[in-house]
Amino acid sequence: MEGYDKMDKYLVINAGSSSLKFSLYEMPSEKLLINGYFEKIGFEDSFWTIKINGEKIKKEGYLLNHSDAVNRMIEELIDNKVIDSMDEICGIGHRVLHGGELYSESVLITDKVLDDIIDLTKLGPLHHPGEIAGIKAMMEILPGVNQVAVFDTAFHQSMPKRNYMYAVPYEWYLKYKVRKYGFHGTSHKYITEYMKDKLGRDDVNLIICHVGSGASISCIKDGKCFDTSMGLTPLDGLIMGTRSGSIDPSIIKFIMDETGMKIDDIDNELNKKSGLLGVCGKNDFRDMLALKLDGDKLGMLAYDMFRDSIVKYIADYYFKLDGNVDAIVFTAGVLENNIKIRDDIIKCLSNPMGIKINMNMNNNIGYGHELDMGVITDSDSKVPVYVVPTNEEVMILRDTYEIVKSR
Ligand code: ADP
Repeated sequence: MEGYDKMDKYLVINAGSSSLKFSLYEMPSEKLLINGYFEKIGFEDSFWTIKINGEKIKKEGYLLNHSDAVNRMIEELIDNKVIDSMDEICGIGHRVLHGGELYSESVLITDKVLDDIIDLTKLGPLHHPGEIAGIKAMMEILPGVNQVAVFDTAFHQSMPKRNYMYAVPYEWYLKYKVRKYGFHGTSHKYITEYMKDKLGRDDVNLIICHVGSGASISCIKDGKCFDTSMGLTPLDGLIMGTRSGSIDPSIIKFIMDETGMKIDDIDNELNKKSGLLGVCGKNDFRDMLALKLDGDKLGMLAYDMFRDSIVKYIADYYFKLDGNVDAIVFTAGVLENNIKIRDDIIKCLSNPMGIKINMNMNNNIGYGHELDMGVITDSDSKVPVYVVPTNEEVMILRDTYEIVKSR
């Protein structure tokens, strides 16, 4: 292959506080060579799984810290003969949650960038410590290799101010940078790029619904993010598996007064015990759906609230785009796979937006079905609805490759 040499291998890293996921790709073919997942880093019962050639291998051993996991990862790459030496790795892309207002695209990680990511920990307190540990471990063990940060917020930086400001004292923004940032940006960008390619134009208007355990909807105007449902943190917007989505903020003080609970506990309940879990006791969409289909009242309520919260954002963004929508796109675990919720959302949109579902296509897409993507509306539907599997990892890979190649 032209331009190919054995050094064109790129790692994609997604590090958590006690975990590290890696995938090694060959570029420019985007061929996945091996991937793996280190878990319980820092605990005595740590373990990891490696997937190569369709085979999954599980191993156990004490991983003291992220550097330990990275050393094991390199051993796995060499033992499995995907690389002969570390010199073959020419770029590493890291998923980073928060780029604040500093980063509107992916960047090469320099000392300054790493300092910024450390500073931004206050905006991503749950994610940044693990991500920083992953970056530092890679820098220590593979010091000569270009590393790139791909921020989950970056794609949303194009939002106009009226869409990202909250109507709170302006000083909160000036002093503390309280504003909407949006998340899942890597996924929304991947889908936007896919749709630009599909529609053959850059100035696309889209409503992208990323609904998995976490969920966000973005409004894409002229090919750029114009608005999105998540806010300062991923808690805002849609009802999710365990997150409440938008609520009246006064609920927090009210519950504190009523129960004596501390603010950190309430924050935890809103992030981890609310959403579908809060309403019906099940956070996984499939479990909630099973309850509903069994006639369980709270399961039915959770389903209706979940569907309506999706419809509400689509309707909002339809108006924000003045009805000029090239496509609605359904992506991530729930909407890539579940026929019923897709059907029910479209039922709510069909009259006001002139959307006509194609049941054959809808019934054919998703896990266990013939197709994994396609258009689920008829050709005379005013707005087409696409199902497109997202691929955040490939987006990180492409950004990393482009930045490293351009040096
Ligand atoms: P995340 O990346 O936020 O963890 P995913 O995009 O993997 O989330 O989506 C997870 C959600 O997708 C879960 O609620 C799960 O129930 C749902 N899901 C996964 N597969 C299916 C399926 N075959 N049918 C319906 N829902 C599914």
